[in-house]
Amino acid sequence: MKNEFDCLVIGCGFAGAVIAREHAERGDKKVLIIDKRSHIGGNAYDSFNDDGILIHNYGPHIFHTQSSRVFDYISRFTKWRDYSHEVLADIHGKLIPVPFNLNSLYLVFEHSKAKRLEEKLISVYGMEKRVTISELRGQTDNELLELADFIYRNIFLYYTQKQWGIAPEKIDPSVTARVPILVSYDNRYFQDKYQGIPLDGYTCLFKNLVDHPNISVQLNTDSASVLKLTGNGILFNGSPFSGRVIYTGALDELFDCRFGRLPYRTLDFLFETYEKTRYQSKGTVNYTVDRPYTRITEFKHLTGQNIPEKTTIMKEYSREYTGDGKEIPYYAIMNSENSVLYEKYKQLTEVFNDFYLLGRLAEYKYYNMDIIVEKALQLADSVI
Ligand code: FAD
Ligand code: UDP
Repeated sequence: MKNEFDCLVIGCGFAGAVIAREHAERGDKKVLIIDKRSHIGGNAYDSFNDDGILIHNYGPHIFHTQSSRVFDYISRFTKWRDYSHEVLADIHGKLIPVPFNLNSLYLVFEHSKAKRLEEKLISVYGMEKRVTISELRGQTDNELLELADFIYRNIFLYYTQKQWGIAPEKIDPSVTARVPILVSYDNRYFQDKYQGIPLDGYTCLFKNLVDHPNISVQLNTDSASVLKLTGNGILFNGSPFSGRVIYTGALDELFDCRFGRLPYRTLDFLFETYEKTRYQSKGTVNYTVDRPYTRITEFKHLTGQNIPEKTTIMKEYSREYTGDGKEIPYYAIMNSENSVLYEKYKQLTEVFNDFYLLGRLAEYKYYNMDIIVEKALQLADSVI
């Protein structure tokens, strides 16, 4: 029996939804997207809670990119709320901008010292430059070293320990490099050219992305129950499937974790609603020296929702992912040992000639939404 679909896409996050749209539109292919959750959007999904507040169910998502291709593409499916995210670090009750910048410097050191440090930073790196904490810690100037030590101890050490379960030196340097020291008075968390929040929310954006006559979406379905990769090829619902398969789920789970689990961090989210207009002055406050949670986000800052009488916040707690069915693997833990294990699983897929791995889980990478969209468009460029 010929299958009714040309292409199967596992997962309906950004990776799955964009690659499905491209096949449906550019390739005129019939596509089936399968997702094990009860909704589209993957981790970018948002919804209204019982108090009528629009929340990001899987953590705060701010869209930001340098790529006009990505921004123009996503802008076909949503209008934007112009929003620049700002984050404060709470250091024993003192709030300072993160990334640590020149404003932060004047908040934590007395004026003449801050001025001296500012001049040194500008002379070594230049204005508007991004410096990683490891670069700053490699400085030879004693005062800059003291500054590096202050930032390391008050911004990175405890937060990273909470988030990853290990000290900053033990994780891939690209992780802490995401949050630099900024030689600038710019208080924004991201400096990308394009940034914002989908005006009607992410879920609405996803509805528009998958709204195409060639796309069908099947929710509440784990691919393990319908898709089998065997020595004789791919089986879908028990029958041979000769079309294209794009898999955006966790790679180890595709092979029943036969070589052992790929390590991930998962998160627990605690939502609280308060009967007041505002809980905190900026979208996110990072707790960098105390508290068991990493950060608190207040959604109304992000969404601009006008509900004066209430506000909802979210506390994020990070812990090891155990593979329990109720947990979600949010963050790949990138290091050389885990890359070796990932490659072992990847090799198992190489015998299937029209099978592709795409996305944060399937590629075991710490990608932002825009990079996922870009990679999906690039994959479409090469295969359609
Ligand atoms: P996902 O969104 O994880 O989608 C994968 C989908 O596949 C899921 O819906 C899942 O249910 C489904 N799936 C998995 N396995 C199976 C299976 N076996 N069968 C069926 N379905 C399956 N990025 C930014 O750019 N800005 C931000 O501010 C930002 N904030 C973030 C905050 C948090 C707390 C987290 C965790 C991530 C954040 N990100 C942010 C990253 C962003 O979430 C990802 O880049 C993006 O969601 C990746 O899209 P994806 O499609 O690869 O994965
Ligand atoms: N980080 C930190 N303190 C902060 C912010 C970030 O130590 O106040 C480190 C931490 O290791 C974190 C990484 O930088 O995991 C990347 O931070 P980002 O805000 O990009 O994380 P995400 O939003 O993806 O969870």
